[in-house]
Amino acid sequence: MADHALTYRPTRAEIDLTALRHNAQLARQLAAGQALLAVIKANAYGHGSAAVAAALEPYVDALAVAFIDEALQLRQAGCRLPIVLLEGCFSGAELPLCEAYNLQPVLHNQHQLEQLLASPLQTPLKVWLKVDSGMHRLGFSSVEIAAVSQRLAAAKQVAEVTLMTHFANAEQAEHPLNNRQLAEFEPLTRSANHLSLANSAALLQPFGSLQQPDQRRWCRAGIMLYGIDPGLPGGTAALKPVMRLVAPVIGLRQVKQGDAVGYGSRWCAPRDSVIATVAIGYADGYPRHAPSGTPVWVAEQRLPLVGTVSMDMITIDATAYPQLKLGDEVELWGARLPVNEVAQWAGTIGYELVTRVGARVPRSYQG
Ligand SMILES: *Cc1c(COP(=O)(O)O)cnc(C)c1O
Repeated sequence: MADHALTYRPTRAEIDLTALRHNAQLARQLAAGQALLAVIKANAYGHGSAAVAAALEPYVDALAVAFIDEALQLRQAGCRLPIVLLEGCFSGAELPLCEAYNLQPVLHNQHQLEQLLASPLQTPLKVWLKVDSGMHRLGFSSVEIAAVSQRLAAAKQVAEVTLMTHFANAEQAEHPLNNRQLAEFEPLTRSANHLSLANSAALLQPFGSLQQPDQRRWCRAGIMLYGIDPGLPGGTAALKPVMRLVAPVIGLRQVKQGDAVGYGSRWCAPRDSVIATVAIGYADGYPRHAPSGTPVWVAEQRLPLVGTVSMDMITIDATAYPQLKLGDEVELWGARLPVNEVAQWAGTIGYELVTRVGARVPRSYQG
């Protein structure tokens, strides 16, 4: 048999490219003339990076992924925009590939710096120099930056440097670390021609000096492109959700009051009930920790998940909707049911749910 594409199981993630373009246009407006980088790491947050890159191409100035393999997949798919590698290179062997494929590594540690400066490149690279302004995850400390910048300015391997940093609490505009991070970063930027600070949260809700656009800046928009609120206190009504995760009803039964449903018999029917079994489970990326009560969307209403999430299936209480039939579609999240709401039930965030939608769930593109 030839390569079998996933076809028969109706479970799928519908990706609305019109909504994606709407969100990209919003990011573009908020960037107010500053350059825009679309963050499409982790298979475009689970949405499919080749299709997302192609749809975003007219709206953004460059793309960003986490590491080189993600970038090479995009090149194989025909993507031509510049691509930033947010974790930079793991070894010097990647530097000739950065040269060959127009990839721009982040430099965030001494090892990466020495490998670049020792590399016999023909064409100088654009690089991003990361400052640890207070998140304490990646980057050079502010006291190291002057010396590193001097070495990069003198290096034949380097065409251009963008000085960047990342916020730990951008979704809380009032968080005191935001201004401390700005205060740490800003003194380093006086002689820089290219800067990058904001993620989606800081673009949607700028704080401090981010409120005044600076034409040297690149905005790094990730989650907002997919129509998911990054966790701002007021939410973000202007975004349109891009992913709709759907699965069919494959089982229907009546259970008696007191009957238990599913593994561990963790849910018992409080009254005679109709239980519908839906063909999606934790192997597809539906969160196993979603408790009974987590909503799903069926025929214009919410129904509750009941019982333990299995590998390939979930069970829902359909007593309130007796018309439900085998084959009917259930929306696990989408425009009617925000992924962040499901995430909250499961004790996580929308970012995790969309990035975990499994390879066995086909993505179907529309718009
Ligand atoms: C993932 C990432 C982003 C995008 O963050 P969102 O919250 O999804 O907008 C921006 N910058 C860096 C360094 C990242 O790793």
